[in-house]
Amino acid sequence: MNFKDLKLDPNILKALAKQNYTEPTPIQAQSIPAVLAGRDLLGCAQTGTGKTAAFSLPIIQLLSREPRKPGAGRRVRALILTPTRELAIQIMDNVKAYSQYTDLRAVVIVGGVPQKPQERALQQGADIVIATPGRLIDLIHQKHIDLQHIQMLVLDEADRMLDMGFIHDVKRIIAVMPKRKQTLFFSATMPPEISGLIQTLLVNPVKVEV
Ligand code: AMP
Repeated sequence: MNFKDLKLDPNILKALAKQNYTEPTPIQAQSIPAVLAGRDLLGCAQTGTGKTAAFSLPIIQLLSREPRKPGAGRRVRALILTPTRELAIQIMDNVKAYSQYTDLRAVVIVGGVPQKPQERALQQGADIVIATPGRLIDLIHQKHIDLQHIQMLVLDEADRMLDMGFIHDVKRIIAVMPKRKQTLFFSATMPPEISGLIQTLLVNPVKVEV
């Protein structure tokens, strides 16, 4: 199996070749076709399995086929929520590498650094936002970001977000997004609170486990 068999666009294949990726990992082979087909996804996978590309590549493909509307302002089309700043930056680096031959703009929103540059980046327009919950809540309340037209949501390491006490923030963020959207949910474990969230968020998800 190679990435071409997953029906990825030439601009994405070119970026993968540049990263020296030759074939998809098992989670990528299972996830990419399902996400491209518009399905919700429930992934039970740890970091190190190629999970980031499994959700990023189909998001990049789906969004890049439909250019961002002029005048979209602070509207974001895809949101990736992750528990830590380190993970957010790592995901951002990956998304940047995979989308380098597209026109998509990705912005990272994390705490512990000045907020102004993030406000400016959002003002310039972002297709994909990669965020930790705390700073994102602040920017939502201050109307620096508009999540009302989100088409795709990724919850990465949902169980860690629960452990770190972010579950209420996550629920508040979900509450400002449209109900109809494509959701990709990743968690290494499935405690009851996570199962509850899955029940309310996912519609007939494809399950992938690695
Ligand atoms: P992740 O689980 O997403 O953190 O990815 C783990 C590491 O594997 C990262 O350094 C990726 O750059 C790398 N990686 C992801 N997919 C592939 C692939 N198909 N071939 C080779 N390396 C990959």
